[in-house]
Amino acid sequence: MKTIACKEYVPGCNFVAKGKTEEEAAKQLLEHMEKNHTEELKKMMSSSSREQIISDMKKKVKEEDEEWEEGM
Ligand SMILES: [Zn+2]
Repeated sequence: MKTIACKEYVPGCNFVAKGKTEEEAAKQLLEHMEKNHTEELKKMMSSSSREQIISDMKKKVKEEDEEWEEGM
């Protein structure tokens, strides 16, 4: 599973976007920001396009296993 933490952009926010693909996770984070962080998003949008933001988010994507057996 691919995950992106919202705190990469908005310090203090606990939201983590998840998706099967990087694209999916990035879009979910963008939707979350559209609803919850309009001010921050506006600032990001002023210097880069939606496409640039999504591709930047993809770089911050982390691979996360759904199973937690390892190391337990
Ligand atoms: Zn957030």
